[in-house]
Amino acid sequence: MPLPADYHMHTPLCRHAKGEPTEYAARAIKAGVPEIGFSDHSPMREDDFDEWRMRASELTEYAGKVEQARLDHPDLPIRFGLEVDFLPGQEPWIREMADLHDWDYFIGSVHYVGDWVIDNPTTLNRWRDRDTIEVWSAYFKNLTDAAATGLFQIIGHADLPKKFGFVPDEDCTPLYRNFLTACADTETCVELNTAGLRKECTEIYPHPNILKLARQLGVQITFGSDAHAPHEVGADLDQAVTLARECDYETCCRFEKRQKSVIAI
Ligand SMILES: [Zn+2]
Ligand SMILES: [Zn+2]
Repeated sequence: MPLPADYHMHTPLCRHAKGEPTEYAARAIKAGVPEIGFSDHSPMREDDFDEWRMRASELTEYAGKVEQARLDHPDLPIRFGLEVDFLPGQEPWIREMADLHDWDYFIGSVHYVGDWVIDNPTTLNRWRDRDTIEVWSAYFKNLTDAAATGLFQIIGHADLPKKFGFVPDEDCTPLYRNFLTACADTETCVELNTAGLRKECTEIYPHPNILKLARQLGVQITFGSDAHAPHEVGADLDQAVTLARECDYETCCRFEKRQKSVIAI
């Protein structure tokens, strides 16, 4: 099966990934991934915001590392992006970052509900203390707001709250519909992210129910491994393509300088 572009990978600048971009690129070529894109965790305006992202002053170094990967692997299309955390009120900062470099795309991701990083395994107690549906509702509210800004070309790992297996019994279709309607209105893609297969939930993000609804509403897709080490580049993208096809998708999107083009999968 021809693999799609892998648009979600990190670098050591985020302080929890290993390997230089040029090593990720070499691995992509070996794994038969035809195109890659870096999307490391964006800086916040305040460098002490948390400990798992690059500093604002490191954006130039980030650009240099990606440029080095391009020089070392001239036949591999390598895109330059960011995984941008969306928190309410961050829009001006995100616009400032967008003007700083010639980005190919921004992935908008939600990791925070209030001051809580919901996918951090050291905070599992907070999941046990809260109503699961309440956390999911707050999460999808943020995600919907993120999509509605139109600041992102792609929304990352849309149902990240399932990571540790805390999934509500309630029907979440209204949450999904609000979110996906915002994606459709702003022509924002949803990412199929295979990192979930490597977590407790052992599922691709997002769930087939979300993808099927996305397809019905005309939301387009991209693919990403969320690689935090070179050996993860392209991981399980074949499974993600199979899932996309099962949900009636026949195309996915590429981005160059934030311009979208559509290709067959
Ligand atoms: Zn993420
Ligand atoms: Zn990521």
